[in-house]
Amino acid sequence: MKKEDIKFIVIHHSVSSRDKTTFESIDKYHRSKGWNGCGYHFVITGNGSLHNGRDLTVVGCHARDDGMNYKSVGIALTGDFRTELPSDIQLRVLKILLNKLRNTLSIPTENILGHCEVKNAHTPCPGNNLLKWIKQYRDDKLIDSEPDTLRQENLELRKDNSGLKITLNQCQQKCQKKQKLISELKTRIDNDDKMVARFFIKIIRAVFNR
Ligand SMILES: [Zn+2]
Repeated sequence: MKKEDIKFIVIHHSVSSRDKTTFESIDKYHRSKGWNGCGYHFVITGNGSLHNGRDLTVVGCHARDDGMNYKSVGIALTGDFRTELPSDIQLRVLKILLNKLRNTLSIPTENILGHCEVKNAHTPCPGNNLLKWIKQYRDDKLIDSEPDTLRQENLELRKDNSGLKITLNQCQQKCQKKQKLISELKTRIDNDDKMVARFFIKIIRAVFNR
């Protein structure tokens, strides 16, 4: 897809266990259907890991109705959110990813959809428990908070920043034109917010590193 063709972001759930489903298992499942690997552009697993599926230049395979595959980014969270709840860290990563994609691709908030909101799509995806969050995100009604579990994980990750700084240098060399993002990332690293910085790096790579 060309950047200017991407007008929507569509969010899915994997309809499988939130904490046991891996990116690899989704990729394998989609290949078994004869697809060219994972049909989504991004997958966020239960522990908040962000995985790059298809490159954004490649049309996804996630929302057929209304020609949506040809004009959208597909993001899946592992879980069955008809019954399960998304984890705090999943939602936090999703929010960062959405903010970045929206800024980079100039996508208006109202074009961030749950799969079931795509015109003519008849599916419960991404489940009510996630759809509720998407609606709040769209209406800008999310309350920011750092859950205890995340604070603890961040403390763990703050012990050593050296690997991250090397990656930052590589990113800097490759994305010279994206200074704003880079400086944001740098601030995160300087603030020792390593976990968030990692997501930035993944997003920067996914969006710009062509
Ligand atoms: Zn879906």
